[in-house]
Amino acid sequence: MGPIRMVVPQAKATGAEAASGPSEARVRFLDASGKPVGRPRKVPVPAAQMMEAPASNGAILRAEAEPQIAFMTRLPTGASQFQVEQHGRSTIRAGIRETASPHPKKPDSRKRLGGADPRFVLAVLAERYDNEAAFHADCNRILAAIGAMPPFTEFPGRIAIEALFWKTSPSQGQLGPLQFGQGTDLIFGDRPLAAAFLKKAGIHSDRSIVLVNLRKRGGAGGTADFPAWVTNEPSATDQWESVAIHELGHAFGLGDEYDSANPQAPPGIEPNISANPSPDAAPWKHLCTSHGPGPTAHFNSGAQLPANTVGTFQGARYETQKFYRAQFSCMMRSTATPFFCVRCQELIRARLA
Ligand SMILES: [Zn+2]
Repeated sequence: MGPIRMVVPQAKATGAEAASGPSEARVRFLDASGKPVGRPRKVPVPAAQMMEAPASNGAILRAEAEPQIAFMTRLPTGASQFQVEQHGRSTIRAGIRETASPHPKKPDSRKRLGGADPRFVLAVLAERYDNEAAFHADCNRILAAIGAMPPFTEFPGRIAIEALFWKTSPSQGQLGPLQFGQGTDLIFGDRPLAAAFLKKAGIHSDRSIVLVNLRKRGGAGGTADFPAWVTNEPSATDQWESVAIHELGHAFGLGDEYDSANPQAPPGIEPNISANPSPDAAPWKHLCTSHGPGPTAHFNSGAQLPANTVGTFQGARYETQKFYRAQFSCMMRSTATPFFCVRCQELIRARLA
């Protein structure tokens, strides 16, 4: 048997300070009776990643995701489970068969849903669905939520979903063990494995979502290299589809308008963000109803202004002071806001026209 890839399930913190930088974990293989087989080995623990996470009341923030340990190994003869010890975390013991990563394979089925002449196709990967019709119904819910929201309302049929279905167990799926955030609704699985499945389906990951059939609300932001994650469970304040629509906003080039700190923020500035407090200097100055040196509203204020006020609202792109957004509320700031601000609408419109 050749080398296999293992992904270690999330371990509980024990209270001892876990290393925040790269470190090492000790792996032991065991036989079915729990007796060690082969030699123990050390595997690297990567540094923690900042990830975009939904949270309560529609908030979106940056949360530190616990490092996910993945390693390639050859199995010693007789090994059926493995044990992982890492500083500051409880010891994990898991079955090898349940934990080994599957080889990426083509979807069992793929179906184009939505517009016949789309300008934009969002790939959605099924995870933990054993029923294709239920997966397609959830994809259609995402399409319906998008289609009900301006400016998508003006362009019926321009958005489509490429629904990629793999039949998997609802309790386990195939895209690795799920990791959960602390104090946020961060949920994600094996990101490199999800990207490998997408590649096998011939799709770029920057326009894709892993839709997890799970009775717990949550998700995680995507990047240029990895798809986003969304579960099909609503929260008290927002529909689960909203998390998918926020991610769609990123696929349209929109930046985050929330102010939760992100030490790993990418450089640059998106067209719905301004670094200048004056509305007259904003990239959306032609939309502004507020003028002058600005800002229209300082950080944590502006709620009392008429909701249609357009100007410079302090607090955006992971900063409370440095950056400005066009309106008080926007889907790129909170998923409890069921609309995009006029600047984001304008930018989406330009891509759909
Ligand atoms: Zn916006």
